[in-house]
Amino acid sequence: MSLIRGWCPTAWRPMAAGDGLLVRVRPRLGRLTRDQMRGLCAAALAHGNGQIDVTNRANLQIRGVGERGVPPLLAALVGLGLVDADPRAEARRAILVAPDWTAGDDTHRIADELERRLDELPELPGKVGFAIDAGPAPILCADPADFRIERTAGGGLILRADGRETGVALPPAREVDALIALATWYAASGGAAAGRMKRHAAALPGWAAGNDRPAPPRAPLRPGGQALGLPFGRIDAASFAVVDGAAAIRTTPWRIVLVEGATPVTHAAPLHDTDACVGAPACPQASVATRDLATRLAPFVPGRLHVSGCAKGCARAAPADVVLTGREGRYDLAMNARAGAPPVLPGCDAAAILAYLGAA
Ligand code: SF4
Repeated sequence: MSLIRGWCPTAWRPMAAGDGLLVRVRPRLGRLTRDQMRGLCAAALAHGNGQIDVTNRANLQIRGVGERGVPPLLAALVGLGLVDADPRAEARRAILVAPDWTAGDDTHRIADELERRLDELPELPGKVGFAIDAGPAPILCADPADFRIERTAGGGLILRADGRETGVALPPAREVDALIALATWYAASGGAAAGRMKRHAAALPGWAAGNDRPAPPRAPLRPGGQALGLPFGRIDAASFAVVDGAAAIRTTPWRIVLVEGATPVTHAAPLHDTDACVGAPACPQASVATRDLATRLAPFVPGRLHVSGCAKGCARAAPADVVLTGREGRYDLAMNARAGAPPVLPGCDAAAILAYLGAA
């Protein structure tokens, strides 16, 4: 049975996984300078197993950290300016930004102000977060956030509560005031019991119940140019020198990093249409390995492939053309489905799956 946790690990609250503790880093404005990236990779090699995930909230997750490695790792991350020395401030910094912001634009300005005013936010459930998505049109609509600042087709900015189709127009320079006020209302109106804004059924306060719609969304970035695709969202700290010429990198929720100041040497988009969680042995919920099988199958699956270590489906919430779900050490195969869906071919071993999909 898969576990659903109501909290997100932070740097100060590491989470246990099958390959050790996970220490999560939330880069400010989703950006790491070259020195920060080098320092992070060195720390991941010194105190973890050298593997770093880029999560679907554009955070970085250092894997395989031992209990004794946590204090020196945290000291290094605080020293690099990647983790707040105050655990409460760190826990509140759940801010997703449109990664293609430019210095001084609305996304940059608003996210920067919100970072500076985190202490004005109320206590919020661990998974609640913000999306500052104020580019020419929204690009984060499908990514997890509870309170969103977005562009309308008319060019204005709105504040929209997740789960509501419309939002309220924001006066210039008052965006963060409104965001904090809505978060404060959420906490005061019992939002913690619902856990997330989209499940909070209370009527919005009158001032926040606007009728403005976000502009039609932009498509998420794909690998190419300065967008470097990361198979399974994984960075190998030992080999991340591919971005050494970069002035900085920006994280995204789409298994891509944006490279500032250099074009990555590698442009291939391997496995961009393939989702696979860490699987066994890294996740204690998994009874099967995932990524090696996904890598072997990917060329033989037209469309989207999802290999999930269990029915929870962490790597992809939406359906995929072919989905394999681990169960009791074997794989259930389903088509056009989410992880855990009733299989057309239950209880297969890897060899049978490879043969069935023509990859043997
Ligand atoms: S889907 Fe994968 S990562 Fe998520 S709990 Fe299951 S095995 Fe673990």
